[in-house]
Amino acid sequence: MIDLKGIKKIYANGDIQVAALAGVDLHVGASEFVSIMGPSGSGKSSMMNILGCLDTPTEGEYFLDGTDVAKASGDQLSVIRNRKIGFVFQGFNLLPRTTAVENVELPMLYAGVPSKERRTRAIAALESVGLGGRVYHKPKELSGGQQQRVAIARALVTKPSIILADEPTGNLDSKSSEEVMAIFQRLHESGNTIVLVTHEPDIAEFTERIVHFRDGNIEGDEKVANPRKAR
Ligand code: ADP
Ligand code: ADP
Repeated sequence: MIDLKGIKKIYANGDIQVAALAGVDLHVGASEFVSIMGPSGSGKSSMMNILGCLDTPTEGEYFLDGTDVAKASGDQLSVIRNRKIGFVFQGFNLLPRTTAVENVELPMLYAGVPSKERRTRAIAALESVGLGGRVYHKPKELSGGQQQRVAIARALVTKPSIILADEPTGNLDSKSSEEVMAIFQRLHESGNTIVLVTHEPDIAEFTERIVHFRDGNIEGDEKVANPRKAR
């Protein structure tokens, strides 16, 4: 599913070069549920940007479903991104003036799905995250946890190869965080591949594997013996 080999990301700040990623090898199998942890500056964002095809590495190979996307052009990357990646952000990133269902339809609009089918699939995705009764609400009429569930519906509606979540519970209280993690656990159980970044050990304990970054390297990669069950 996901294979990274010798991934380096070097930034040039004037004369100074920063190795945000210093040669990372990582394999994530289909339907794994993985969290990425590590101190600020350890390379997590750089890793997520590469995983999400928002950026290409300076060096190394990134196989996503068998294709080396590390060498893709900007245009190719955006196609891969739209087809294969679902994003969930800390700040939800919903369009404020449009309804929940219209927000969820958006990636299908880019993918050229006919309008009737878009509506049907968007409603089904919202039902799958427990928001069947909030389809025509706008973001500000929803709680933070509900907004994040809309964002998850938007991420999964195109059936991506991988869902990437960057601090998805960072803006949520602990009850809403657990509800969001319950949804990720269900998505994982139904076969979705999910990688999320979190600073919170309690959140990482809901996943099945924790990869620790430090100074642009993976310093630990462990299975979670008994993942917490979110409810
Ligand atoms: P994290 O997400 O773990 O905080 P980052 O991937 O954002 O780590 O950053 C890793 C290192 O790379 C840091 O030293 C950071 O300052 C540097 N860095 C990240 N992005 C850039 C950039 N666009 N230009 C220059 N340096 C960067
Ligand atoms: P995080 O909250 O994940 O730690 P950061 O604050 O490290 O995020 O980075 C936020 C964004 O700024 C990222 O896209 C990263 O690539 C970029 N960035 C980080 N460090 C630098 C830097 N020194 N120069 C330019 N951009 C940077």
